[in-house]
Amino acid sequence: MSASLFSLDGKTAFVTGGNRGLGLGMALGLARAGADVAIACRDLDKAADAVRAVEETGVRATAVACDVTSPASIAEAVSRTRSVLGPIGILVNNSGTSCRFRPEETPDDEWDRVIDTNLKGPFMVAKAIYPHMKELGGGKVINIASMNSIFGGPNDTAYAPSKGGIVQLSKVLAIAWAGDNIQVNSLYPGWHYTDMTRSYLKTFPDQEAAIEARTPAGRWGEPEDLAGPAVFLASAASDFVTGASLIVDGGYSIN
Ligand code: NDP
Repeated sequence: MSASLFSLDGKTAFVTGGNRGLGLGMALGLARAGADVAIACRDLDKAADAVRAVEETGVRATAVACDVTSPASIAEAVSRTRSVLGPIGILVNNSGTSCRFRPEETPDDEWDRVIDTNLKGPFMVAKAIYPHMKELGGGKVINIASMNSIFGGPNDTAYAPSKGGIVQLSKVLAIAWAGDNIQVNSLYPGWHYTDMTRSYLKTFPDQEAAIEARTPAGRWGEPEDLAGPAVFLASAASDFVTGASLIVDGGYSIN
């Protein structure tokens, strides 16, 4: 297989939540493969280090203010990215949030916040970027799912439905946009160290060793573990892969 199959030279990627955690791990992977990267997040101050790290790989980077729950904010971020880096050919729908309540205790506004961020947001961002991909003659959408796309849990009342839903959204977009040469896939991270999981471990410290013990690879993931899978799904190497699910969990879900 030629190395050029994985080249992203000349492409522009838009990574929501690219300022830290898994989003930054994937942004750096795409940059190392040659893509220019827009880091889309709410707090631009928090994005400065990420932009510097992406630029150090030799590509162009920009930070754009983007709240994925706001159509106006998405439109502004997509338009700014286009004017700085050109039309967007790769979208990583990574922004996410969580809350942990049993169903009978889940406040309605927490349900809305999680579903709006994790499910409606990716839908609205994909819709806003679709014209760019159509104009380019093709594109790649990578939707970030979760182990909670497969498993439930008594406290995953809003999070699990949001992550189950994004897998179905990937399938719908994959079918609808196949004729435009746009491939849409779901990437399921297992347990990786980020701000989100560090906050979980504060409440459930014994889970750190339990998760490690269940994971055949014998360790938690790091954000850079998602770089290669993201490059695969963003590159010509995956041109006949669409509507698929790629699990990156060190074997956790098969054990
Ligand atoms: P973090 O909490 O570390 O990062 C979340 C990211 O989402 C931040 O960059 C944040 O940026 C951004 N974000 C949150 N809300 C919004 C919003 N309304 N608009 C724009 N950006 C937003 O989480 P992770 O890196 O761990 O998670 C990234 C994704 O991976 C999420 O979708 C998560 O559900 C998923 N995931 C993570 C796993 C893990 O083990 N870590 C496992 C499975 C899935 P800012 O607040 O600055 O705007």
